[in-house]
Amino acid sequence: MQTILVAGGAGYIGSHMVKILLANGYQVVTLDNLSAGYRDAVLGGDFVQRDLADKAGLDALFQRYDFAAVMHFASSIQVGESVINPALYYRNNVSNTLNLLETMQQHGVKRFIFSSSAATFGEPQYVPLDENHPQQPINPYGWTKWMVEQILRDFDFAHQFKAVCLRYFNAAGADLEGQLGERHNPETHLIPLVLQAALGQRSHITVFGQDYPTPDGTCVRDYIHIVDLCQAHLLALQHLLNGGDSRAYNLGNGTGFSVKQVIDMAQQITGMNIPVVYGQRREGDPARLVADATWAKQQLGWQPRYADLATIIQHAWQWHRKH
Ligand code: UDP
Repeated sequence: MQTILVAGGAGYIGSHMVKILLANGYQVVTLDNLSAGYRDAVLGGDFVQRDLADKAGLDALFQRYDFAAVMHFASSIQVGESVINPALYYRNNVSNTLNLLETMQQHGVKRFIFSSSAATFGEPQYVPLDENHPQQPINPYGWTKWMVEQILRDFDFAHQFKAVCLRYFNAAGADLEGQLGERHNPETHLIPLVLQAALGQRSHITVFGQDYPTPDGTCVRDYIHIVDLCQAHLLALQHLLNGGDSRAYNLGNGTGFSVKQVIDMAQQITGMNIPVVYGQRREGDPARLVADATWAKQQLGWQPRYADLATIIQHAWQWHRKH
């Protein structure tokens, strides 16, 4: 049985990944400092509470286990916060990731799956965005992800380190069995905030800007179901475990929905009134991010099963109603 280290496995995406890895017969070790994750979201395997800043602690972990690969989900994820506090983002997302990569290299572990982001592209020159689109981030969060992608290229050249960078568009939805869902504190993501407003846990949802160059003036995003996203990670992992080379893939469904469309659909699905307030643009937000995921489909054999936004919101709603 192969052992996979999942850094950030107590968070939203990481915890869904741990569940899917276990279901597919992998041994899993979750590493998380619990700054944003939840211990009870880790449904199996070993758990180690440790910070990626703790290099000696990482070394001890790699001495204890023989990892076949590492999946790295542990990072700070708020675009707006990264604009206000860039040092936090460069330290956590770049410097701490470098600790992990160096430790892997020192222990001869050379397969890595990296949570990258559509934010590495910046303001799109064309949509949908394919992997050849220039990467010119417009916020510190995007720069941190792009810098790690660059570090991985250099590690491949220097150390034959094989990595798959997965550039997420907007992850949403919840585990089909209802065990896991999106639980950020504070919550900043659109779909959970809209559903909390539907439940009356928030007085309203604020729409950040309605003067974007989009059909209804609100930002357009490509929402991808968490289970489909994790399935792509599983295929990327199998690719590397089978001796595959380094790759980067965009992961989305190729269809953009505006903030207003998301709110309208959530209103229909929940049957609840969702009060809306129109506010200022949020710093660092591109107008339109839509993925061209042809490569992931062709090269990894990825087949999204829950591409429909209504299904994504439905699954998120099932989870939010219970929690
Ligand atoms: N958004 C919004 N109000 C909110 C939260 C988000 O209008 O309270 C918008 C945000 O500006 C972006 C879209 O919803 O255009 C998705 O934002 P989210 O934070 O969910 O993901 P991101 O696109 O930043 O990864």
